[in-house]
This record gives sequence, structure tokens and C-alpha cells, in this order.
Amino acid sequence: MSDPRIRAIPDVHGHAKGEHRPFAEERPIAYSARMLFLWFYHACLRGWPRFLMIADHVNFLTFEDPGAVHTVRRALKLAEAGDVYGAAETAGVDIGHARVVSEGLRRGMRFSIGVEIDSDPRSRPDAQNIVDAMRPDGLIRSVHFLTIDHPEKGADWHWPFDNPEFADVFPVVGPARTWDMYVAKLLDEIEKLPGQIVGHFYAPALFGHWPESKKLDEYETRLIEACQRRGFAIEINARFLYRDHPEDQRKRYLDAYRRLVRKAKTKGVLVAVGSDAHSPKDQGGAFDIILKLLDECGINELAFPVNGRLARVALRATREHLEKARRRPERPHVPGSSITGFGRAELGLPEEAESARAMRAGGARAARTASPKRKGTTAGRPAPSKGSTAKRSADSAASSSKARAAKAAKPAKKAAAPKRRPVAKKKKSPVRKVALKRAAKPKKPVRKAAPKKRGVAAGRKPAAAKSHKKKAAKRRR
Ligand SMILES: [Zn+2]
Ligand SMILES: [Zn+2]
Repeated sequence: MSDPRIRAIPDVHGHAKGEHRPFAEERPIAYSARMLFLWFYHACLRGWPRFLMIADHVNFLTFEDPGAVHTVRRALKLAEAGDVYGAAETAGVDIGHARVVSEGLRRGMRFSIGVEIDSDPRSRPDAQNIVDAMRPDGLIRSVHFLTIDHPEKGADWHWPFDNPEFADVFPVVGPARTWDMYVAKLLDEIEKLPGQIVGHFYAPALFGHWPESKKLDEYETRLIEACQRRGFAIEINARFLYRDHPEDQRKRYLDAYRRLVRKAKTKGVLVAVGSDAHSPKDQGGAFDIILKLLDECGINELAFPVNGRLARVALRATREHLEKARRRPERPHVPGSSITGFGRAELGLPEEAESARAMRAGGARAARTASPKRKGTTAGRPAPSKGSTAKRSADSAASSSKARAAKAAKPAKKAAAPKRRPVAKKKKSPVRKVALKRAAKPKKPVRKAAPKKRGVAAGRKPAAAKSHKKKAAKRRR
């Protein structure tokens, strides 16, 4: 780790759902907020890659995924705000995990969640709905299947050509035809379907099946032209470089990428880098080799998907970058919004800004209108939490005993009140003295808490009338 720029290379391609299983055993795997959070935790613990995107295969999608993605995004926001407890509770991780991620985010690490769309025939037919619901930061478009007529498996058979279990099909189809079909399919998808990054263009060469140089050169040119037209970036996929492959193949692979990146640069097509990690240990894998390649091609800016668009990340700050940074105002410290991890809306509380405004307006009335359903809300207190409710009732309980004493001292005033309602008066008259004494006790706390509120007072009267009736009934018995 000699060059600090290695840490700054955004890693746009990682599989939090883990390593590939034997083809016949592959099943959809549900995301959990914890699983996603811990993927980022490992990067934070290491300190890099500073920018990291999860992009799992669309064939592994489940209905749980959008919910988990949104939950972890909320947890990351809490962690970034320094609300370690809220983040831990939201993502279902330990405080220690949340603290590491919080520190990482506050040092400037950034995480995205996207999808690798790989035209897998095993994808759910409604995969698009799930992908939409996830609001992916970025879409990596790649081809992992080709439709061929197989001598044994039949016509229109979906061949996972870069899966070692099916490598023996290569001689049947032939490398030249494989490449031809692959490029045709990939370019067609870039042309017609959404996406931001073309994943691992050299996938058909995984087992050493390269087309002849002139042909490959033509494929690359067509790819770059398609990317330029549609605003796609190309990915340098590093997986080949940290996996076990013969040295001559690694060299050939790097030569190919060097050529492709140079073509991309000439045409103004953005370049992205992906480790294609299927385990946290491979995040940023072989990025030292990639940095060398980038330097050879004169690439300083890399693409990183954020919220459906490609952001540019500079590896070395140029004078232009430094000036831009100087002009940018410093980001203010934002405290955590919740220690429970629930949003204010979920707790039935007014928005922070709204209640703050109400407070500034300085009025009990303003605060009351901000939360009309809370009769007991103490005026001026902006956001009653569960804790403060408990505290308040303790207070009012204490003050109610004072109230009781005060009440006993002024029975005359009390008797005057019912005059306004002649119906109640009639019924009360025979038992008034006893009933008033007894019934007064339970209703006092309410009255004391908000003595001037007409609404509360009105609510008290029917209750009083009722208890009078009860008492009267008891006496009759
Ligand atoms: Zn892939
Ligand atoms: Zn992948």
C-alpha cells in the first residue's frame, strides 16, 4: 500500500450475497440490512476502498431486498450523522460495527447499492419491479449467458459461458462464434436497455479464449462507440488479477484493458474499476495493479454511481480540484435525529424543521398546532419523546397532590362551576357534598397539568357527572 491513491479508487462491483455455488444449487438470496451494513463495515475497518458499491446479480433478487436496502441506507445516514446507537439498532449490528462505519463515513467514505443485470434466464420475471423498488445507485450491465443450439441439451439453450462448469461447451460453439454472439448481445443491450456501466467486457476470455487481434480491436471500438452514444462507463474488472490465472493470461488481460481504456479516454467514455469481490477480503483486490494501468493511460478520474448517475472521483487532486474544494463551504455537523432508529414520522412526531419553527414562533399555540393530537403536550416543548412523557406524568402526579390540598381549601368556587349546566345541577343536588369530595380526586392531575385549556376542562365535566351518577347509584343500593 505504497501509493495513497489506491485507497481512493472507487470499487463499483461487489457481491454481498457471497461466492458462487454450483450452478444447480444457486438460489435467490435475500438481503438483510445487517448483511449489507457489514459489507461496508469491512471496508471501513480496512480504511478503503473509500467508495464502494454493492452490485449483486439480478438472478439472486428477492422481495425482501428493497426493504433491506432502504433500511441500510437509513442506518448509514444515522452512522454518518454520528448516531452510532441508532445505526446499530437500525441495521441490526453491534455498536462496535456501527462505530467503525460511522468513523469511516465521517472520514469521507461513501457507499452505493446497485445491481448487476446479467440477462440470467433464471431471473424472476418481475425482477424489474424489485430493481425499481431498490432505487439502485447504479446498474452494471453484463452478459453471462448466450443462447445456443447445443448438440445434447437442445435448441435455445442458455449457456453460462464464463462458468467453469460449462467451459467444455467452448469447443462446441467455437471461440470466434462465442465472441461474435457475445458482442452482438452486449451491444444490443447497451443500445436498448438502461444502465451506467458495462461490466467485465473480456468475460469470454476467462478460460483463455481470445478472438484474433484484429477482430478484438474491432469489438472494442464498437463497444466504446456504443458507450459514448449511451453515456455508459466501462469497467476494468480486477477479479481476474487476484484469482489464480497463468502469468501469460494476466499479461494478455492487462494489455487488452490498457488498449480499451485508451480508446475510452480518446472518446470521452468514463472508466470505472470493480474488484467483483464475492467476499469482503477481495474488496479493492489488485487495485495496485489497476492504478499502474490507469497511470499508463493517463486516467485520473473514475466513475462512481450515486443515485442513478455517474459521479467522477479524482485520484489525485489537481489545482482545479483544490480550487473547487476551497470554494465549497465546510459541511456543518449534523447531530443524529433519533436514538431509536425510527424516523420522526414513524413515531408520529412533527418534522424537526416544523417543530423548530414552532418553537421560534415562541408560542404555546404554535407548538400546539404542530401536534394537534397531543392534548397533554407541554407548551413550548418541541418534540415529546417517550421518555419525556413518563417524566411529565411523574411531575404532574406530584403537583396533583398540591392541587388536592388547594381544592379542599376552596369548595365554594367549585360549587359555582356547575351552575352553568342546569341539567347536571338538578341531579347533583342531593348528593353534591359527598360526590364532589370523592370524585374530585381522580380528575385532578389532568386539570392541574393544563388548567387553562378549555378542551381539557370540558372533557372533565362529563366524567364528573358520570361519577356522580355512580355514587348516587351506590348509595341507593
Ligand atoms: Zn458478472
Ligand atoms: Zn459480478
